[in-house]
Order: sequence, then structure tokens, then C-alpha cells
Amino acid sequence: MARRDDAVRTAVEQGLLGPDAPLAGLLDVTGIRDSAAALRAAFDAVVPPGTPVLHAFAVKATPLVPVLRLLREAGIGAEVASPGELALARAAGVTPECIVLDSPAKTAAELRRALELGVAVNADSPQELSRLDELVRTVRTDSPLGIRVNPQTGAGSIQALSTATATSKFGVALRDEGAREWVVRAYAERPWLTRLHAHSGSQGVPLSLMARGIAETYALAEEINRHVGRRQIDTIDIGGGLHVNFGSDVTTPTYAQYARLLAEAVPGLFDGRYGLVTEFGRSLLAKHGTLVARVEYTKSAGGRAVAVTHAGVQVAVRTVYAPASWPLRIAAYDAKGRPKEGTAVVQDVAGPACFAGDLLAEARALPLLEQGDHVAVLDTGAYYFAHHYAYNSLARPGVYGYAPDGDGGIRFAVVREPQSVEEIVAESGGGRAGALSEL
Ligand SMILES: *Cc1c(COP(=O)(O)O)cnc(C)c1O
Repeated sequence: MARRDDAVRTAVEQGLLGPDAPLAGLLDVTGIRDSAAALRAAFDAVVPPGTPVLHAFAVKATPLVPVLRLLREAGIGAEVASPGELALARAAGVTPECIVLDSPAKTAAELRRALELGVAVNADSPQELSRLDELVRTVRTDSPLGIRVNPQTGAGSIQALSTATATSKFGVALRDEGAREWVVRAYAERPWLTRLHAHSGSQGVPLSLMARGIAETYALAEEINRHVGRRQIDTIDIGGGLHVNFGSDVTTPTYAQYARLLAEAVPGLFDGRYGLVTEFGRSLLAKHGTLVARVEYTKSAGGRAVAVTHAGVQVAVRTVYAPASWPLRIAAYDAKGRPKEGTAVVQDVAGPACFAGDLLAEARALPLLEQGDHVAVLDTGAYYFAHHYAYNSLARPGVYGYAPDGDGGIRFAVVREPQSVEEIVAESGGGRAGALSEL
């Protein structure tokens, strides 16, 4: 992709990458804006004009304040699952009515704060609903409140990410004995419960399975509203979880495909009687992030060429520990940041961490990497470089946004400074070096 190639070359030219800055995350601002617009257009095309729709970005996918601000400016709110994520959304200026709080482990204080702010809350369990019962008696709140259900429609190809399995820890398991009746009664007894939530998709879940989960959630909302004799549930939160194609630059499936499929599979959800909330994460950001690392050394082992780079487990935890589920594309660039030419040679792309499995790619055919070259790890805008793992006390890399400067070049903005060694020491108890000696 030309814009990415320009960004890598310019980052090298400007010294964002170099001998002393061997790793950086780059975010394509144009791409993020385009995805946000595509998401809004996709659902606007299938609901009657005037239908309330909130697209809440799942903050966990890319927990960086300038990204949340960019999305807010593009008309996207925030889905948060911890006090930290809520604080990030607020720091980005996302207003409470555009924030949704979902987490399976909200504390009493967290719930109270959310209600005081007016942030929407989806109760994950009967015990949490009891806490809400107490709070709504004492806290004056504008928070829309709902229950998260698990339609138990089954797993996708990645077990650890599948939220709609029979025994998933999330939501009220709808097909369990007595659960459906419990949910209907919970709404009948609580006129303030006006939303219903399910997040049944994730990477590796096909669209048809996601649609089935949403169809079941819609059917439950209809059943509840029939039972109480009014439109008590006025908004359905369909979660996120759209699969991302990590195999090429093509975005597939698209939001438009998904929205059209849902409109066909669950037409009643789109006839204007329900407001809609979505919570996409990975599909908004993944393809707009590129991790660029310098090749520090190359060597050969057992006849295999190995490039030792600065991108490994500290920025690609999933790929390093579960490479079969999370393969990443790698593009080779030369020392000046230009796409590297040459015959493909099977080689390993290794990270800097001190354990043998720290590989970003095994036996990958790429132009033979040389010392001082760069590798770009593609599609890493979500759940990768913003999710640093402190193994080997490796520093969090700097993150930079980029966009065309209108003059044929590329402009950068700092999203997050690289972590300094002093910060690593301070965050590792450096200020209390003698703490244990005194015990
Ligand atoms: C993680 C999560 C999302 C976002 O999932 P993606 O696969 O990144 O789109 C949305 N809603 C909830 C409740 C989540 O836990």
C-alpha cells in the first residue's frame, strides 16, 4: 500500500526509527477515518432516518487517548470495561451518553460512578443486577441500563476469544435451565431496564453465526416487550466482534456486508422500533496499524536464515504464544525504509526477548533480510503495539499517527512517547529499592 510505504520511509528519514529507536508503531489516520465513516454509513443504510444509533468503539482494542479523540470526532463513542478505559474515554472528551460500560467484574464503586456520570451499563450477572437494584434506589441517574445475555450460539475458530459458548463467562447464559424466564422476569420487575446486550462475535466467528446470536437477542427483546405489554426495551446493543482479514490488504468482511446481512436476517431490528448500539474494536483499527522494527542482526541456524529484530512478544503477545491462530503479515523494507526487493528466501523473523518461541514469523519467504533493514508487521492497529507486555523490561515503543501532508509527503504526530529506561525503573519499584530489606 502506497500510503504505508510512504509512512515507513518517512519515519526512517525523520528518525522516528533508527539505531536508538529500533521499534515504532504507526497509525494511518486516513484509514481510521475511512473505517469510521464506513461503519456509520453501513448502518445508516439499513435503519430508517432518525433511528438512534451509537457506535461505541471497544476501547480495549486500541487504548490510546488520541485515537479515541479521533474516533469521537468521526462520530464514534466508546465501550469501556474498566476504570482505566473509562478514564481514557473521558480524557479523550467522549461524553457520558456516548459511553457504554461492559465488564464481568465491575465493583460497587465502579457501578456507582458510572451511574453518577450517566454512562450506559450492561449488567453481566444476576449478582450485578442486585447491586444495580440498590444503586437505582439511591443514585439519581440518566444511565441507560440493560442486561448482557449470552445466546450460546457456539464458538468460532479461536476458542479463547469465543464469547457465545455454552460455558462462556460473559452475560446470562440464555439456554441454561430457567435463565430465559429469569431474564424476562428481571425486566418485568424493573421498568428501568431498557436495553438488551449481547456480544457474541469475535475474530474467527463467521457472519452467519454472529447474525444468529443477534437474531436470538432480538427475539428475546420482543418476548420481553410482549410480556410487559409495552416497548420497555428501546435499544439493542449488538456488540462488536467483526472478523478481520489478516491475510491481505483487502477489508473483508465489510461493515456494509454485515449490516446488510443483519437487516435480512433480523428485519425487525431495523424497522425503527429499536435504537441500536454497536461495539466494534478490532475491525475499526487493526488494518490501520503498522509496527516497524529494525533488523539488529542476521544469522543462520541449522540452515535457516534468522533475522533478529526488535518486535517480539512485548508487542505481539498473541502471535508469539498462539502463532497458528494469529499469523501476521510481514513486509520487508531496506535500511532507508524502501520496500525491499529480491528473491524470496525462507527465514525466521525473531523478536528481542530471551525465550526461544519469541518469533513473529517462522519459515516465512521474504527478500533476505540484512542488518539495518526494517520489517513492518502489518494489521497491528488493534490488540498489538498498544498492548505492551513488560517481558524482559523491554520499553513500550513510541506510537505515531500519520497522514498525507497535502504536498506529496507524510506528516507525523506523536500519539504516545516511547517509554524511557527511567520510567521502566520507576514503574518497577525503583523509588523503593530498599523496601524488602527492612522487613
Ligand atoms: C472485546 C469486546 C468488544 C470488541 O470486540 P472486537 O472483536 O474487537 O470487535 C465489544 N464488546 C465487548 C463487550 C467486548 O468484550
